[in-house]
Amino acid sequence: LSNASSSASAAPAEVVEAELTWTGERFERGVQIAIDDDGRISAVGELGLPAGRRLPGRALLPGLVNAHSHAFQRAMRGRGETFPEGSGCFWSWREGMVELVGRLDPAHFHDLYAAAFREMRAAGITTVGEFHYLHHTTPEAEDFALDEHVLAAAEEVGIRLVLLEAYYASGGIGQPLTGPLRRLRGADPASYWRQMDRLARQLASRRQSLGAVAHSIRAATPGEMAELYGEARRRGLVFHLHLEEQQREIDDTVAAYGQRPMALLLEALPSCEGVTAVHCTHTAPAEMARYLDAGGRVCICPLTEGNLGDGIADLPAIHRAARGRLSLGTDSNARISMLEEMRWLEYVQRLERRQRGVLHDAGGSGARPLLRAATEDGATTLGVAAGRIAAGCWADLLVVDLAATTLAGWDDDNLLPALVFGTAEEVVAATCVAGAWQEHRSPGLG
Ligand SMILES: [Zn+2]
Repeated sequence: LSNASSSASAAPAEVVEAELTWTGERFERGVQIAIDDDGRISAVGELGLPAGRRLPGRALLPGLVNAHSHAFQRAMRGRGETFPEGSGCFWSWREGMVELVGRLDPAHFHDLYAAAFREMRAAGITTVGEFHYLHHTTPEAEDFALDEHVLAAAEEVGIRLVLLEAYYASGGIGQPLTGPLRRLRGADPASYWRQMDRLARQLASRRQSLGAVAHSIRAATPGEMAELYGEARRRGLVFHLHLEEQQREIDDTVAAYGQRPMALLLEALPSCEGVTAVHCTHTAPAEMARYLDAGGRVCICPLTEGNLGDGIADLPAIHRAARGRLSLGTDSNARISMLEEMRWLEYVQRLERRQRGVLHDAGGSGARPLLRAATEDGATTLGVAAGRIAAGCWADLLVVDLAATTLAGWDDDNLLPALVFGTAEEVVAATCVAGAWQEHRSPGLG
């Protein structure tokens, strides 16, 4: 950046200068970032200000954005990985998940969320989109008490939270929710919005916001989807749903409605602006093209889809048709690493197509579009001003230790691909959320 860009005239609360700063296309030297009292970036560039926080031997990037998580599933890590009766599948995994839903009490739930969010932050994640459907204390209660634990756990850790509050009304198309799954239930869209209003009053405004969710076509009817989406748009909220992760979901939807889930969604909604469909593993190409034309976005969760044996989405088609509308999530949290999510997004495509650089930008870079999916496009998908080091965005930052052994041999030009293809949380020295810093590994920062 040759010139400073600025959105504020007041003196900054803090000026940061790292050895290298990611400015959107490349790492640059001599870049200062001014942060205001609210925790937003007020200016970026060669500002000529005294830097209160100098970071030699460090590179600054936008904090990573995890666009799709179910934090409680962190408790399943290392479980369900033995197969005494032969191979498992998504549905055998789901039985273990339902069992977990049945036994989580509020205290355990709270601790689990705080631990998962802490692990995310230590992995460089500064924003999490928590797709939250486990609402009630017991199958009998309809208290939404666990929602408040998600907010509180995120605040304990200081991570930015977009609470993607999920509407979940049926346990399969036309089927009631039974047993422990009654802890998920929402009565109708009207009561859903009453709970959203209650939650809106409890948010920590610098770090928390809401998004609307219909869990899936298994959990909400097309009519309910349309009603939820309409009100979400009226309120300026993003709208997320799971879509076409599993062939059985598609078969059930065709049997019930005569159409696949994506076709049904396209028919139900007037537009797909603000919509993020999670997975789209088995989406038909023509329907994907219509969805992207209508403004839709896609979130892929490569490690979870790999762990569950879901399949591989048609990524080149999504990337060609809708550059910048692809995000990434850690989903089941069997592993929490956005750096791994980035490279596995590309690697499964390489394995399937026996090509390299399946995803690349106009300049030929394979790493830049992966970083973009894990930062600015994730932030857009979640409706937050983050994911970029730019004036007006929240000061949500990732500090990389350039002395990490896994980065040995880096230079200014290969640093990004070295990070994306060769490292994980060991390079994360610190993170900053809305101007509040936290060290993770190395002492002596600042
Ligand atoms: Zn999910």
